[in-house]
Amino acid sequence: MLGHTARFRHRLPGVARESDINDASMPKLSDEVKYLKGVGPARAEVLAKRGIISVEDLIGYLPFRYEDRSHFSQIADVVPGNVYTLRVEVLEGQAIRYSRSSRSVYMLIVQDESLRRLHCRFFHGGFMEGRYKKGQQLVLHGKVDFDPNRPARLEMINPQVETLGPGDSTEVGRIVPIYEAMGAISSRMLRRIVHQALGALPPDFPDRIPADILKRHGYPNRREALMYVHFPPQEENIEKLNSFRSPAHMRLIFEELFFYELSLAMRKRNMQQTAGIAFRVREPAIREAVKRILPFKPTGAQKRVLAEIAADLEKPAPMNRLLEGDVGSGKTIVALEAATIAIENGYQVSLMAPTEILAVQHFLSGRRIFQKAGYRVELLVSGLKAAPKREVLANIRSGKAQLVVGTHAVIEEGVVFKRLGLVIVDEQHRFGVLQRKQLIDKGRMPDVLVMTATPIPRTLALTLFGDLDTSVIDEMPPGRTPIETRMVTDSGLPGVWDTVRREVENGRQTYVVYPVIEESKIELKAAITEYERLSKEVFPKLKVGLLHGRMKSDEKESVMEKFRAGDIQILVSTTVIEVGVDVPNATVMVIEHAERFGLAQLHQLRGRIGRGSEKSLCILVAPKNLVGEGRERLETMVRTCNGFEIAEVDLKLRGPGEFFGTRQHGVMGFSVANPLRDKEFLELARRDAFELVEDKVNPGALEKLLSKLDVTWRRRYQLAHVG
Ligand code: ADP
Ligand code: MG
Repeated sequence: MLGHTARFRHRLPGVARESDINDASMPKLSDEVKYLKGVGPARAEVLAKRGIISVEDLIGYLPFRYEDRSHFSQIADVVPGNVYTLRVEVLEGQAIRYSRSSRSVYMLIVQDESLRRLHCRFFHGGFMEGRYKKGQQLVLHGKVDFDPNRPARLEMINPQVETLGPGDSTEVGRIVPIYEAMGAISSRMLRRIVHQALGALPPDFPDRIPADILKRHGYPNRREALMYVHFPPQEENIEKLNSFRSPAHMRLIFEELFFYELSLAMRKRNMQQTAGIAFRVREPAIREAVKRILPFKPTGAQKRVLAEIAADLEKPAPMNRLLEGDVGSGKTIVALEAATIAIENGYQVSLMAPTEILAVQHFLSGRRIFQKAGYRVELLVSGLKAAPKREVLANIRSGKAQLVVGTHAVIEEGVVFKRLGLVIVDEQHRFGVLQRKQLIDKGRMPDVLVMTATPIPRTLALTLFGDLDTSVIDEMPPGRTPIETRMVTDSGLPGVWDTVRREVENGRQTYVVYPVIEESKIELKAAITEYERLSKEVFPKLKVGLLHGRMKSDEKESVMEKFRAGDIQILVSTTVIEVGVDVPNATVMVIEHAERFGLAQLHQLRGRIGRGSEKSLCILVAPKNLVGEGRERLETMVRTCNGFEIAEVDLKLRGPGEFFGTRQHGVMGFSVANPLRDKEFLELARRDAFELVEDKVNPGALEKLLSKLDVTWRRRYQLAHVG
């Protein structure tokens, strides 16, 4: 064990010696990790769960931080409240079980060269009993503080611990990489097997990034970079390493983003070279038709994005465009204008929404707006009864249906379009890329317009939808009064209901929202019970309605219809109203247990009010002693109505992995890069990748690059059958 590390120590980060390369015991990059010393079948299985099968995969598993173990701090010198790495000796360790509960704490008492003692507390650490023995050498990493109960005593809570073997000097006296442990495989174990694996890197290990790009940015080659991040030289600055800003880190980050962007650029180029539909858009009759449907004067932003969309529709290549606009910015009418162009060209249009309520909403506004034009609009949702469904399907097949609005029912198998020319997908974040593709497959290369109200910070938009062109509606329709948002504690509820009563008596309508996130029975009961209570006890004289996801579609539809018509004054609802519902007379929204909603969701919900010229009020009800992220979310809502600002906070609180929900996880599944932290590299990588694909500056370079790429990388970035 020790031998490996020691051997690397004087060799790294230089070039391997000839004798090492010929050594028959040297692993090869393509070898499976289970053949490495100290791995074996059980550990190989743990590694495989993380996608680490080959030696090369293992080399791609980077340390997440570094410790400078060349000089340790002394306990005698620590300033409480700061993070330290300490080299210590065990005095004693034992689990302490508290009598009243079964929870236990493992206490470890250590001391260092300065002969000062330190207490370590590990919560729920009962299982650690017997782990550490007197005299054992450890490296501890964590925050040192005073024990709140015994202010003279220094302690660390749940520090990271690494055991040093007797006389083991290779893991101290230098900068040591720390890997995230995987199950039973500790950081220390990973360090050893990774270092063994590094021996598989041949001196002529090929670089995937074209030489001129590397040179332009001054990045080290791939081999050097990998050696360096796993085994940084002593003189490297520890802060640079820990912020992933050593030249080696920057190179690896760039590399990952470069290939990702390359695949987007190629997908986009392929799209551009595909034959699609060239719609006629300039003819006076078509322009007239578009103008005729408009119920109001479009905003400057709406005009601009329509021009962008029309230019795409006119081109023979299929459109692939993302229409971004905050809730209430007026995307629907733009989509219907685009639909008008397609319909006037003799094509069918489908508009797909993520929920039935939203589909109905779009269906109603589509039918209203297209009434004058005389287009036939159909609704296709799963809840449809057999006979009407058959009729709708027949109309789609015959081409009679000109605009088909629906949920995912539209992509089901029995749905056949006669001449699908334009696909509009609303609220992209709810639909997977695959579903989008399924719908596209229903037409012969139809144009695609994706609408989203999730304000996506620009960097992330580039990362995720880099193959789409984007149009942004960055202006609200005129006459909107900003929504006032307040935070109220439970004890303030009676006052809230008074406000609601006053508003309703003045002719306004109100939403009261309960958090039924999973539509579980217990949660649903809360909404139903509250509805009973509000309608009977709190507002006995007002018309109160209930809406939730478990209701049948025609029930839901009739409740929404009543609310739209004003026959329901107070709508008690779960988050089913989150998306798209448009009732301008509803100006008050009360959100109970607001702390249980995510920021994006709160913003979407609040977007249901403030749709008319009347002043709107959003009341967030939360517990009195709310702290932490929950509080920050609500304070953000009170502070701003700007969707982009809210998205930035959301992203900061949740991190990019969570931001788009699990479905997008694969997309954000970078291993070194973090699009949020590495914005500048994302833009560099994008520029270089697109330049390469355009093939103007450096003709032939793309072909050369692709021909040299190994299979794993082609597969990983889906560069297999392009080029
Ligand atoms: P979203 O972008 O959230 O889909 P909608 O398209 O539902 O927004 O529009 C929100 C509201 O604003 C609707 O009631 C719509 O009729 C109205 N609206 C949209 N554009 C304009 C405009 N240019 N002038 C006046 N009202 C508009
Ligand atoms: Mg909308």
